[in-house]
Amino acid sequence: MRRITWLIVSVLLFSGPSAGMSQPGFDDYFINRTLRIDLYHTGTADEEVFSLDELVEEPCWAGNPRALIDTMNLGGYIFRVFDLQTNNLIYSRGYCSIFGEWATTGEAERGFTRTFHESVLLPYPRRPIQVRIDRRDRRNIFRNVFDLVVDPSDYHIRNRTRFGHFKIRKHQVNGPAGEKVDIVVIADGYRKDQMHKFRDDAKRLLKGFFSEEPFLSRRSDFNVRLIEAVSDDTGIDDPRMREYRNNIAGLSFNSLDLDRYMLSTANKALRDIAGSVPYDFIMVLANTEKYGGGGIFNLFATSSADNEYSGYVFVHEFGHSFGGLGDEYYSSAVIYNEMYPGDVEPWEPNITALLDTTDVKWGDLIAEGTPVPTPDDSTFADVVGCFEGAGYSAKGLYRPYRDCIMFSKNPVGFCPVCRKAIERMIDFYTR
Ligand SMILES: [Zn+2]
Repeated sequence: MRRITWLIVSVLLFSGPSAGMSQPGFDDYFINRTLRIDLYHTGTADEEVFSLDELVEEPCWAGNPRALIDTMNLGGYIFRVFDLQTNNLIYSRGYCSIFGEWATTGEAERGFTRTFHESVLLPYPRRPIQVRIDRRDRRNIFRNVFDLVVDPSDYHIRNRTRFGHFKIRKHQVNGPAGEKVDIVVIADGYRKDQMHKFRDDAKRLLKGFFSEEPFLSRRSDFNVRLIEAVSDDTGIDDPRMREYRNNIAGLSFNSLDLDRYMLSTANKALRDIAGSVPYDFIMVLANTEKYGGGGIFNLFATSSADNEYSGYVFVHEFGHSFGGLGDEYYSSAVIYNEMYPGDVEPWEPNITALLDTTDVKWGDLIAEGTPVPTPDDSTFADVVGCFEGAGYSAKGLYRPYRDCIMFSKNPVGFCPVCRKAIERMIDFYTR
């Protein structure tokens, strides 16, 4: 029954352009600028509500004008944009949010209410639009949680970014934003006199990043710009040490009360900084030696700059924010209660609940004769299969490879399944 329901819902949601038909024409509906919708996302484990904060116009649109409709079906949320006059679906994107993660914590389940700020971005519409946000429920079925009508001529739309004065460095620009994956690397916790350090840190970590497949062979598909965002203080917040800093992008350790988890809840500042360059994906670099980072699909990724594992964290977290990859590990402590209900197939491309051993989502990469589930021993060290233990759970969830950069800190790179998911995303942004 569950499968049938899901099938019907998927057909309803993802028929049309995403099913292989043509994408809407960019120039028919949009101009080459960005409309940013800033929202407050409030609720408990069971209920949530979005409310409008502000609409912002940003200078150009970085996304692929040939890929307006999201064909990936990843993320806990999807936002869709309809042309109000014709009711045509003209843009959609899956994404995840801090709220969505927080809602699985004990604090949320005890009935506590919290608010997180977030933004959705779309190309600037020519005509009035309806924006709709749906979230997946625990059964993976999309439920509508927010609707908004926007008239692009509304004079309430702020058309000036607040942090346009920071110095921008072009690390590599290989072509127009619409044909490349545009990464912006933002400094956090660097004072004005430390920007040479930021440039060196970014250079070092990006060198490691582009030595990892598939980024190595697809390097020319990426543009990377650095923003020298200036903080008053060195370093970032470290609540467990009671150390609080004036850092411009708002990064903090101990996000959702997990010490190594480093996120920013200052979304507004972060977006205002990022908005001064064309960007698809945000990477925030923290000027600290302490181990930590974070990455949320289509939101942002973070890494500390000076830890011995920073090179690994930088790539791993980008795997979350860019590829929608899940954590394949299961032995480290996390704060989520039942992030993945065992009887529902996770949407992440590299984790499966293995509800049907004859129909695995990465089955095209499993060689004939490989047992599924696959025994976790050295016989299957370099084989794609289904290894039990993934997504913070030792039982009931399976990963595609014995080791992977989404599984451990070992220098093993991305497994074939993660690599394919990333390549597919690069194609989506560039072809
Ligand atoms: Zn993997």
